Amino acid sequence: LTGRLGDIFDKLRRRGALSEEDVNAALREVRVALLEADVALPVVKQFVNQVKERAIGQEVLRSITPGQQVIKIVHDNLVEMLGQGEEINLNAAAPVPILMVGLQGSGKTTSTAKIALRLKNRDRKKVLMASLDVRRPAAQEQLKVLGEQTGVATLPIVPGQDPVAIARRAIETGRREGYDVVMLDTAGRLSIDEELMAEVAAVRDATKPAETLLVADAMTGQDAVTVATNFNDKVGITGILLTRVDGDARGGAALSMRQITGKPIKLLGMGEKIDALEAFHPDRIAGRILGMGDVVSLVEKAAETIDKEEAEKLARKMEKGQGFDLDDMASQLKQLRKMGGMSGLMGMLPGIGKIKNQLKDANIDDGVIKRQEAIISSMTKKERKHPELIKASRRKRIAAGSGTSVQEVNKLLKQYDTMRGMMKQVQKLGQKGLMRHGLQ
Ligand code: GDP
Ligand code: MG
Repeated sequence: LTGRLGDIFDKLRRRGALSEEDVNAALREVRVALLEADVALPVVKQFVNQVKERAIGQEVLRSITPGQQVIKIVHDNLVEMLGQGEEINLNAAAPVPILMVGLQGSGKTTSTAKIALRLKNRDRKKVLMASLDVRRPAAQEQLKVLGEQTGVATLPIVPGQDPVAIARRAIETGRREGYDVVMLDTAGRLSIDEELMAEVAAVRDATKPAETLLVADAMTGQDAVTVATNFNDKVGITGILLTRVDGDARGGAALSMRQITGKPIKLLGMGEKIDALEAFHPDRIAGRILGMGDVVSLVEKAAETIDKEEAEKLARKMEKGQGFDLDDMASQLKQLRKMGGMSGLMGMLPGIGKIKNQLKDANIDDGVIKRQEAIISSMTKKERKHPELIKASRRKRIAAGSGTSVQEVNKLLKQYDTMRGMMKQVQKLGQKGLMRHGLQ
């Protein structure tokens, strides 16, 4: 009877792998969330398909539903897709030209001043700003005022010059007067047009900017694809600055633009104030786009609990003085990978202080761990219980089976010996009763 009950509990605990139905059902919800966040439709489709492929077959943690698991997978993929924030690239001969492009009203002029102020205050750079906007009557004045507010120099206004001439004059002035950076603020249009693109491309050719930032409003909806594609194809952008992230928009434009151009989102505009500029953190934007933060943190908690339970199980086994075999090593390796390091796991074993240093010497990293797991899973059950059986011919077979080399198999077995030695030390400590009292 206990056996049968055990079976049932086991089944309840292991929910198994995600089926296509589980994944499809959850992704329907995700699709709606992404569209509501104003991610462009083609981007939603592409992203959802990508995640679908990855999700099917992944194991579901116990205590959460398959749907919740899928949402966590979606979230992680979203973070990955959005990419890490990057700094402004100043890797060029001074004066480094930075070109600001985008539609009218997207926040180019404001962002030009924000970046200039940041470079001046944080990086101690000498910055010159120039407005190439000869269309809107007060545009050059607007930048001049911002320059006065921030204490950043602006290029003197000469009426009648075209954008390329102003840009050339800005670079020349920058060179002559020893500026580190020259920020070029261009004119925009309400929508993409050929004339705008030609003008911006001409400025680009005349100045060879180190950085061409596409400034885009976080509220840009389905248009994000057109805007990003056009600027990237016709001008060639190096990064994206998303503005009005302080507003209500869920920020789907970030995903659309990133997916379409493959260019990093570098900075976020967080308000009208001149210091409202922030670095980009993919997890924050991902949470905002998906809007399912509760589910994500629930799954993270569940994963943590399971890691802890497994580590404790192993610790109990060690404490009882049972032998440490290759199955235990495999489960340890898995833990290690999940918990980001030997010390995370060993911290849970009592009385281990001085052994920790030895473990550091063992020097196990992520890629190596995955290969080691592959090696162990290419062994038979018997071999895992009795590693001493694994002689030369078996080593060859295991290497072939795991796609590794005999040297790597040898190394793993040696590592196993070392670990077993350490476990014995732990057990000895335990028997002396030190463990029970929590002394080191
Ligand atoms: P441009 O036409 O691209 O040069 O846009 P502007 O820089 O002139 O900005 C247009 C308007 O958007 C101005 O009123 C700015 O104060 C405002 N703005 C720019 N960036 C942000 C931002 O990050 N948040 C908010 N709330 N407003 C912004
Ligand atoms: Mg402007």
